[in-house]
Amino acid sequence: MLSNENIVLDLLDGFEQMAKEFPSEIPWCIEMGPKDSTFVTAIGSVIHGNETGSLPAVIAMLNELTDQDNPPLKGRYFFFIGNPDAVKAETRYIERDLNRCFHLNDSKTLEGRRAQELALVLSKVNLFIDYHQTNQPAVFPFFTFAFHEESYRWAAYMKAAQHFVTRDPRIAFSSEGLCGDEWVRQRGQSAVTIELGRSGLSHAAHQITLSSLRRVIGYIESELDHGRSPHPPSPEAKDQLNFFEVATKIPWPGDEAALLPGFENFQSVKAGQELGISRPGEKIIAPVDGYLMFPKYPKRNENGRPVEAQGGDIVQIIRPMTQHPRTAYASATQSDNPSASTSRGK
Ligand SMILES: [Zn+2]
Repeated sequence: MLSNENIVLDLLDGFEQMAKEFPSEIPWCIEMGPKDSTFVTAIGSVIHGNETGSLPAVIAMLNELTDQDNPPLKGRYFFFIGNPDAVKAETRYIERDLNRCFHLNDSKTLEGRRAQELALVLSKVNLFIDYHQTNQPAVFPFFTFAFHEESYRWAAYMKAAQHFVTRDPRIAFSSEGLCGDEWVRQRGQSAVTIELGRSGLSHAAHQITLSSLRRVIGYIESELDHGRSPHPPSPEAKDQLNFFEVATKIPWPGDEAALLPGFENFQSVKAGQELGISRPGEKIIAPVDGYLMFPKYPKRNENGRPVEAQGGDIVQIIRPMTQHPRTAYASATQSDNPSASTSRGK
């Protein structure tokens, strides 16, 4: 039986073959549809090298689009593999996190240069959909990005998840650098990030990715075919996503810290519940009710210390929003120095 790693390498191979037939101006990126189309979409996969779950569905979608029986595309599409070197190395990144490199001012690292390449494509798009996975399992798949009305409509239209972890668009996701989706929204275009569940190949990741790609591309093609610009309608009440925002972030306490084993994204917690230890004898206690987000379990050496330097948060707790983010963030006051997280998510 083939190992997952062999399957992933075969998928990469298949993608590379197809990229010879449908090349774009950058490596590891397939371009389809007319260059003069009025609507351009980018589909991002494996910006983090271990988050391979969307790959099989992307290949399946490409095969559907290139089927002889398919009418010619009206939209222009880019499908890219974010960090192929990290995929081959079975790691999140080689030199630095690619999804923190979209300030585009780093030509020294492999990921910094890859972000500059990807920006050539992303600078053309009206819509960017970025498929990610979390390090720990997730009770549900979920969207996560700063609130932006048009991006939200695309997310609701995709039907890939019912939960949306969002934030005020004036707050950066990470102080370490800009994410690809943030960069696209800063340019006024739509960008959606979805977390499919735990990193790696899975049936669920395949189903969610393929069905959402079919919905989005089907809608774009149908709208363009009718001479309309693709703009999903505001979702009806029953199709609104469930909104969550960060209630509290627990900063990484130090090398002796450890969460209790087995926490998942969206696992429910109560205020006062023990979450782990910040050092021997000192408990980490949940300060509020909510759901865990991005619980961190770093690789550890034989002394139990994290192999890599840790920062940011050991875990976040999110809570349901009582207001629609459209309303909640419209009244928020502008801050000159928005606080940013250093989460390892996305
Ligand atoms: Zn990711």
